[in-house]
Amino acid sequence: MAEVARAAVKIAVEKTEIREFALPPVGSDDGLLRVESSGVGGSDPEMYRRANTAPCIMGHEVVGTVERIGDAAARRWGVRPGDRIALHEYLPCWHCHWCLQGDFRLCMEADFFNVEDRFNTLRYGTCNAEIAPHLWGGNAEFMYLAPNAVVHKIPGDMDARHATLAVPLGNGVQWAVLDGGAGMGKTVLVFGPGQQGLGCALAAKAAGAATVILAGMGRDRARLDLSRELGADIAVDVEAEDLARVVMDVTGGKGVDVVVDTTGDPDGRIAEQAIALSAKGAWLSLNGLGASVPINEIKKRYLTVRAPRGHSYRAVQAALDLVASRRWPIDKLCSHDFGLDQVHEAILATAGRGIADAIHITVSPGKVA
Ligand SMILES: [Zn+2]
Repeated sequence: MAEVARAAVKIAVEKTEIREFALPPVGSDDGLLRVESSGVGGSDPEMYRRANTAPCIMGHEVVGTVERIGDAAARRWGVRPGDRIALHEYLPCWHCHWCLQGDFRLCMEADFFNVEDRFNTLRYGTCNAEIAPHLWGGNAEFMYLAPNAVVHKIPGDMDARHATLAVPLGNGVQWAVLDGGAGMGKTVLVFGPGQQGLGCALAAKAAGAATVILAGMGRDRARLDLSRELGADIAVDVEAEDLARVVMDVTGGKGVDVVVDTTGDPDGRIAEQAIALSAKGAWLSLNGLGASVPINEIKKRYLTVRAPRGHSYRAVQAALDLVASRRWPIDKLCSHDFGLDQVHEAILATAGRGIADAIHITVSPGKVA
């Protein structure tokens, strides 16, 4: 095997080039992954536009085969060379209060909302490629398996592109089901039919939700249509239909039990609408509350409000189990697959640039162009 890895490196704002890195030596505690497929995350186009975050090997929805592994790492993860794994992007400390109670996404070393210098904080797909051993992202032939990586074994026959949905679908399980309590008899409203929103709809339906309503815009037509095969009972184009009327008709005027906003909601307008469409006692995952928190409405409706914040081990494993069940047409989410030389196009396409109707895009480094 060649002792270098080719990697697609973000070298400036919306600029990528292929560079080669020496494969790192593997000690007892770490390993090396041969990347099979790397999903382009919904946040990647924004990360690609951000200044002062280069050089970086992007790609944080990573699936591959264990190429080399140290003895201690093999025992810790229960894997051998040739085993296939999906990874979280987090590289938590494993000894703080949050890690010890299983909430490693809140670890001060893994939680983006608490670190001052995100670019120099180790995390797959977003950190500085100048930090040795450099291979910190999925858009490369090989990725470094750090001792503190979070690893899930996947079945030998699982399509790698499907397995890259572990993270976005894991977010859906976390936000709609584990946090929001979407389940039997519940009515669920999801804003935004991107990969996270589709993940929320699918997770809610798989958990037994009675009615799942997914709201999007006219430009989301293809995703809204597809969502009906992936858990949504009702898909609403809010530019053509009155969402409030649809929700109140379906719930007999009561409002929904669970709301998840997967859009950015910079001005708080979705939050305002979400609160207005909630039943008493509803649970809401909101991304923005506008200029002020409408505490009177929250009190009047006896609401619980939280914000979507990543995924737990349990959520990602449940997502992988959903993929493995073959009960859902997961392949329809995997709209495009690119080679390592087309990472630039893959990231732009995720933001709707260059390709229409992209849903979940993968980069498969072994793919022959
Ligand atoms: Zn920790």
